[in-house]
Amino acid sequence: MALAAAKGLSVILGTPTESCPPWLWRNVPDVVATDEFHRIHGGRGRYCYNNRRLQSQIAQLVGHRTQRYGKDARIIGWPIDNELRGTPCFCEQCRQDFRDWLKARYGSLKALNDAWGTVFWSQPYSAWDEMDLPSADQLTTSTSQILDHLRFASDSVVRHLERQAQIIRRYSEGQFIGHNSMGAYPWVDLQDLVHHVDFMGWDTYPAVDSDNFEACFSHDLIRGLKEVPYWLLEQKNGYFNGGTYNLAIEPGIVRLWAYQDLGRGANGVVFYRWRSNRFNVEQNRNGILRHDGSPRRAYDEIQQLSRELARIGDALGPTRVIASVGLIFSYDQVWAQKARQQYPPRRTRLGFIGTNFMQATPPSAKTATAKELSRTSGSGTSAIW
Ligand SMILES: [Zn+2]
Repeated sequence: MALAAAKGLSVILGTPTESCPPWLWRNVPDVVATDEFHRIHGGRGRYCYNNRRLQSQIAQLVGHRTQRYGKDARIIGWPIDNELRGTPCFCEQCRQDFRDWLKARYGSLKALNDAWGTVFWSQPYSAWDEMDLPSADQLTTSTSQILDHLRFASDSVVRHLERQAQIIRRYSEGQFIGHNSMGAYPWVDLQDLVHHVDFMGWDTYPAVDSDNFEACFSHDLIRGLKEVPYWLLEQKNGYFNGGTYNLAIEPGIVRLWAYQDLGRGANGVVFYRWRSNRFNVEQNRNGILRHDGSPRRAYDEIQQLSRELARIGDALGPTRVIASVGLIFSYDQVWAQKARQQYPPRRTRLGFIGTNFMQATPPSAKTATAKELSRTSGSGTSAIW
């Protein structure tokens, strides 16, 4: 931070709560989320956010850090955690908390039974301790139970952020609180989360050969969350090993993406990362500098961008995007669609059947059209579906 300050740079300091150190897992094994088969399901950010000992450890960590840096003028803000994701957990603590969450939501079992329509498929609950999580060992899962569990899981993540925000507010002065989300990632309700931060951010890694709609949709979603400009807290600046194939970045694309960010309503673009990682994970992603510290082409592009923004930034800053079309985005609707998937999506099933059919068919066979099928139907020679 002293080096950044010496160079005239302000610092945003994240709370380091996404990655679990080995000693914590060893001392508190149940910080790791439990999956629907009651197996522990680890991974970065895959915690049980309702685990009380995890909550206590995080409160201590964030408390110490913000007591030390909360009034440090070199630091302008705190992004909380990193790319928070929905982590439905099926542990005993979550079972208890889910029951309490339902009691608060519905007030009585009768109200819950009425709202869920549990009379269908013999589901009426007669005691709160009959209420379970929609785990794999249930005889019958209820659509409304799955939907409420997704709501509860999102709530658990948002409360995790809220607890940290409260600690930071207690100890900091003149520093903003934000979060770098994953844009249109659907399993955390950002319309709820946004109430606990001063501004929203998101991390963008656009595909070079995409039609760009995913990035633009995320921009529009984030812009609509809060009536203040947002930031890109991670902007891709080169090759990224996140797909089945990864194309090189053509000259000018990094600058183009940054202008797209600004054109869609962002007021800040931070590139991930400064220097390519020399160890452990993410070594194959480009930094602005190569692994040996020498500048890549993106260095010059970003420098050009910085010079341009120094000239026009003051004029650009107060501008606003005027949308000509309004889109309604409802997390409840997305989750309800997920919850009502009683059977695997039809397209997947047909795809599976189609794959087997193609593998079992001699190479000389060609794909039949609907007209051809109608001609051969009943002949006993071309039964396909
Ligand atoms: Zn849990």
